[in-house]
Amino acid sequence: MSTNVFAYAAPAAHAPLERTTIPRRTVGEHDVLIEIAYAGICHSDIHQARDGWGEGIFPMVPGHEIAGVVTETGPGVTRHKVGDRVGVGCFVDSCRACDYCRQGLEQYCVQGMTGTYNALDRNGEPTYGGYSTHIVVDENYTVRIPDGLALDVAAPLLCAGVTLYSPLVHWKAGPGKNVAIVGLGGLGHMGVKIAHALGAEVTVLSQSLRKQEDGLRLGADHFHATSDPETFEKLAGTFDLIVSTVSAPLDLGAYLSLLKTDGAMVNVGAPEEPVSLNLFSVIGGRKTLAGSMIGSIAETQDMLDFCAEHGLGADIELIRADQINEAYERVLKSDVRYRFVIDAATI
Ligand SMILES: [Zn+2]
Ligand SMILES: [Zn+2]
Repeated sequence: MSTNVFAYAAPAAHAPLERTTIPRRTVGEHDVLIEIAYAGICHSDIHQARDGWGEGIFPMVPGHEIAGVVTETGPGVTRHKVGDRVGVGCFVDSCRACDYCRQGLEQYCVQGMTGTYNALDRNGEPTYGGYSTHIVVDENYTVRIPDGLALDVAAPLLCAGVTLYSPLVHWKAGPGKNVAIVGLGGLGHMGVKIAHALGAEVTVLSQSLRKQEDGLRLGADHFHATSDPETFEKLAGTFDLIVSTVSAPLDLGAYLSLLKTDGAMVNVGAPEEPVSLNLFSVIGGRKTLAGSMIGSIAETQDMLDFCAEHGLGADIELIRADQINEAYERVLKSDVRYRFVIDAATI
């Protein structure tokens, strides 16, 4: 049993997204039905809709930055009631039994988390994401959006926000720590806001100085252009933590030289091609080169509570659903400040 709802889908790889209908399952024992208010456009939506990572399931309804309101609850639901403001991020299920699921690190589930879209759920049915009017999700894979956060600026926090919050907290960004954020896009702008609110001294490392004014307004203390070789001389040995949000290939050795002894460089963006590295870059100075993937449900809730407490939302450009394809082109040109959010009322 299912209900059809309106959505924007890519009918095939590389095909423009168009309005269509998709099935949503009947609300089960522990499910909530969410009327979607806003859905953010994440760079990975474009990768997947255009099949950049292969194995896409079409038709595909992207969207894993979902904010909305609960309109129906299953009989066993205890976390939410009708009218609650809720969010859904990058995954809607996991095995719930492995060590990582039991520790609340569902994003690292050994069986693999179930993606909010472009995945098969545990019954083998395709999942469809947030570019849609409604979604049915197990209550254990939803989070509460605090009253202080508007739903439109909260939506991008469900992926971009937690993707930066998780490594910043894990590697202890805070007072007395010198933190660099590489790249000032959808992810990077949240990194600057969150690192600043955590009390760290924040530096943006961006290709050029084009976004300097924005960076400082968002909470950065310093802003440097990585296209200027002097930047790497001036900042050698400066940072406790570098979080890279870029997916273009980087000269990792050059960035690692900016770390203090025992510093860490964490990648949340990745180029499609493997990278090479002279390991002396990490041996000298006992440095860590690491990665981090989104965040758990509990961390996502902590992040939303933190953002509400500090008055942080994403900087967004609100669009109608019929502007999605145009927005994709602009994201690819880095022409967005800093996240497109779809008004689901226009779907
Ligand atoms: Zn995302
Ligand atoms: Zn698991």
